[in-house]
Amino acid sequence: MTASHDSQPLPVTRLKGVGTSVAEKLNKLGIFSVQDVLFHLPHRYEDRTRVAAIGELQNGDVITINGRIDYVDMAFSRNKTSRRMLLCHVSDGTGSLLLRFFHFNKQQQAALQPGKCIRCFGETRLGVNTLEMIHPEYRLTDVKNNSDVEQTLTPVYPSGDGLQQPMLRRLTQQALNLLDQADILPDYLLNNPHAFSLKDALQIVHRPPANADVELLMSGMHPAQQRLAFEELLAQHLGLQLMRKQTRQHASWPLQNANILYQKFEQSLAFSLTTAQQRVVDVLLADLASHQPMMRLLQGDVGCGKTVVAALACVAAIESGFQAALMVPTEILAEQHYQTFKKWFTPLDIEVAWLSGKLKGKKRELMQSRIASGEASIAVGTHALFQEDVTFNQLALVVIDEQHRFGVHQRLALRQKGVRDGRVPHQLIMTATPIPRSLAMTAYADLDYSVIDELPPGRTPITTVVISEQRRDDVMERVRNACASGRQAYWVCTLIEESDVLQCRAAEDTAVLLTEVLPGVRVGLVHGRMKADEKEATMSRFKQGDIDLLVATTVIEVGVDVPNATLMIIENAERLGLAQLHQLRGRVGRGANASHCVLMYRSPLSQLAQSRLAVMRETNSGFVIAQKDLELRGPGEVLGTRQTGLMQLRIADLLRDEHMLDDVKTTAADLLRDHPQNVPPLIRRWLGQGWRYADVG
Ligand code: ADP
Ligand code: MG
Repeated sequence: MTASHDSQPLPVTRLKGVGTSVAEKLNKLGIFSVQDVLFHLPHRYEDRTRVAAIGELQNGDVITINGRIDYVDMAFSRNKTSRRMLLCHVSDGTGSLLLRFFHFNKQQQAALQPGKCIRCFGETRLGVNTLEMIHPEYRLTDVKNNSDVEQTLTPVYPSGDGLQQPMLRRLTQQALNLLDQADILPDYLLNNPHAFSLKDALQIVHRPPANADVELLMSGMHPAQQRLAFEELLAQHLGLQLMRKQTRQHASWPLQNANILYQKFEQSLAFSLTTAQQRVVDVLLADLASHQPMMRLLQGDVGCGKTVVAALACVAAIESGFQAALMVPTEILAEQHYQTFKKWFTPLDIEVAWLSGKLKGKKRELMQSRIASGEASIAVGTHALFQEDVTFNQLALVVIDEQHRFGVHQRLALRQKGVRDGRVPHQLIMTATPIPRSLAMTAYADLDYSVIDELPPGRTPITTVVISEQRRDDVMERVRNACASGRQAYWVCTLIEESDVLQCRAAEDTAVLLTEVLPGVRVGLVHGRMKADEKEATMSRFKQGDIDLLVATTVIEVGVDVPNATLMIIENAERLGLAQLHQLRGRVGRGANASHCVLMYRSPLSQLAQSRLAVMRETNSGFVIAQKDLELRGPGEVLGTRQTGLMQLRIADLLRDEHMLDDVKTTAADLLRDHPQNVPPLIRRWLGQGWRYADVG
């Protein structure tokens, strides 16, 4: 980078085309600096380096074609929505192709005229009589030409609202141009003939040559990616080590436990703790009683009851006159935990506050002032809890739920809120992600580790079935029956798409359709683009039983707890990772009634996809699923680590890259010994902006 070792990273606003509003959108993706742009890697690639003849197309090709529009007509979809579709028939002399548009405006309709030449990029599907492309990207061209194709494979980046792929491509190109050769890895690593310089590796990953092995790239095993993954794991490892060392140098506040308040709390619970919960609570209380800051990871499968364990840890803080904070990754979960905590704590005269990014104005001021004054003993919230304008009075315990959704630096930032007089708060970090122990040691090298390995009594295992979406009618019938007998259901719309706009739109459409098809069933909708209070209102109506069927995007993936919901439908299940499916499925099976999960897929299902869905059908154990996930990973797996849910890494994947872990450890030791001056910039490079918080730690 032009930024040398110790200088501040270049802000992303230095790139052309990035004003305040684009910068804000980039920030949401974790991109603050030019460097972050470079580490925002494509999750797939498209081959636009050649134009295919229509006659050669095969079902499922993702490809560019050139053709002439023969004629255009309008049709109505045959399902109950009877939505208008624009059908555009295109041919190129070798064959013909149907372009199908569900969403189109007047201008588009007017422009798509017979006789016009058109270039399209999209995925072909076998329609009723012919191959078709649904919503291809297209451009009308003057002449039928084959020139101006791309020179490299086209990257497709994970994106957010309002950030289009061309913009992300322009930004990465600019950032690549700014990159210089400042590699931070010591030379001996680079002597390896397979090792690339950082610059070359990034160049390849962002703009693979036309002949690059796409399968290899998609599996993350391309040497260029492995080079980056290695450096990232190294940085992560060094960062965690440093963090542990720094934290251990500080004291915390010893918290008393098992006194009056604690007993009152336990007595007021509607259930008694399981043996596993009790064991973990005992360990936590012992940790908290120490002058050393607790740094403990609590792992427990979905539904095992981590929330109440967290609450008991909070009680220890409150009983000693301190505050506790509970941070969660989504607004929906924050709201739910807030309600749960209020239910538990209000009768004991303990005030709970709530903060989220979308809480604004007077309400926010009020919450902030209750937290600052210490009148609120507990603050529940999203990452909003550690924004600059939030101050605590006496924070002594930080609990982080669903840790895999947060990066290390977010964890640090919240802890930082509690630093006073050289002391740091205790930390409890919770996750449902089942992690083989060896990986846990790496992913959470800075933490002690406990497990809840038991579910509360009286749970009936969830029955899972795998069904083709052609049997959608049967599935809807199932939903009707479940709701008619007083139970509730989720219908999860998933799409692996660059933007969640399409996912939300799919959920909206599904909600409309289900409302029509299932009279008498009260249908609700939640998705990421709704306003916070709309989401909350819907969630609480679902919780109270005023909504029977909740149509949702994956926003409900983590934490949501509605025991009366016993049926879950997941669309496009074959496109999700097993860890994510397991999380989603964990929303049912939370009460005594038998629960069912229907995994719908779109045919044809590959061999690999079949085996993966079979795993879901055969087991409910998160550990078994994680193990199988590892075994079943094959080439062609979606890039990126969100699917594994293990750790917020940019390019490395703990499961995939497990073979490097030993090497990472030795290299880390060598680096610390021989090139200690290279360590801080390496950590900063990969852990980003938030790492500055560690300096005070
Ligand atoms: P998770 O570990 O997935 O966060 P939750 O904390 O949401 O699980 O708990 C799942 C459900 O189990 C909640 O409804 C909770 O009230 C209930 N629960 C927790 N512990 C027990 C217990 N010991 N006995 C009975 N129910 C429990
Ligand atoms: Mg939970």
